[in-house]
Amino acid sequence: MSWKLNQAVAEILAKGADGGGISRDEALTLMRLEPDSRDAYALMETANRISRRQFGNKGEKHFHIGLNVEPCAMDCAFCSLTRRAGIFKEKVEFSEETLLAWARQGEAEGADALNLMTTGGYPFSRLLAVGELLSAAITVPLVANTRDITHREGEQLLAAGFVGFYHAVRLGEGTITPFTPERRRHTIQVLRDVGLRWMNCIEPVGPEHTAEEIVELMLLARRQGATYSGVMRRINFPGSPLEPYGMITELAMARMVAVSRLVMGDVPSAHCTHEPNAASLLAGANLVFPEVGSSPRDGEADTGCGRGRSLADCTRLLREMEWNPEPPSNCFRPAARSPQRPAVEGRG
Ligand code: SF4
Repeated sequence: MSWKLNQAVAEILAKGADGGGISRDEALTLMRLEPDSRDAYALMETANRISRRQFGNKGEKHFHIGLNVEPCAMDCAFCSLTRRAGIFKEKVEFSEETLLAWARQGEAEGADALNLMTTGGYPFSRLLAVGELLSAAITVPLVANTRDITHREGEQLLAAGFVGFYHAVRLGEGTITPFTPERRRHTIQVLRDVGLRWMNCIEPVGPEHTAEEIVELMLLARRQGATYSGVMRRINFPGSPLEPYGMITELAMARMVAVSRLVMGDVPSAHCTHEPNAASLLAGANLVFPEVGSSPRDGEADTGCGRGRSLADCTRLLREMEWNPEPPSNCFRPAARSPQRPAVEGRG
């Protein structure tokens, strides 16, 4: 039986394979492909090929360490660490000894970065102190994952040893979170201004999100030169107010990972997926997040004892999908920073 790729899809994939990015309309066409269709597999094959070429087959592990647990007053609907979820009643700060042990374990097991996450109420001065502590002890690059920041706070993070900042304008921002999209976007500009690498993910994706709102965030990541910008699906913790919406499958996420990869073109230094899964590692993703400490997806205070995948698991997963975890990260090379990219929306 012969099979021909849809002509319009073939043209978009050929354009995407050149690394110049694709337009909003082209991305929307790809977002509407059935995840298990032959055209969708052709899309994922293209994204996979681009990433293996551009990233030199390097597989990345950025080790998420959640520094604290609290019933967070920000009450973001997707998060298990909220007051209203009622899962955590007390504040817990993991000790310096524990954080140092995790950081050293990350270094010993080949983590390419430490992604230090805090809840919304965690004191900024504590995050700076943890940055100073860990940067004095290990050489793995530090990435902060905390609330919105000012220029002054960005400079303080740099002085404390951080080189990157994970930050997303989340799906439903301002509706299911108390933060405005404008404030979230302002922080991205702060990162650019002070010289912290911006790490991003399209998240947390659920079945209720439209292709249009998802693609809008992909285009923002390209425009603002994200170091990486893959896709994370929403995990519904037990009792989540978003449980009625359900969750997208890993295959549906992999198809979006591929769309995001073509949108990003030659801008990124890596392409992420979360939680770690094999399908996305065949669809353009090369970066996964092992996890310990607090996690907004878990009912365990230490996700290393819950949903979180270990460093060893992630190393094994990368190797099984023939990504090489050994070479140095591509995300922290001075030359890897991309200049601000021209917007490609509206073309095509
Ligand atoms: S996502 Fe962050 S700010 Fe929002 S409730 Fe969870 S910990 Fe708080």
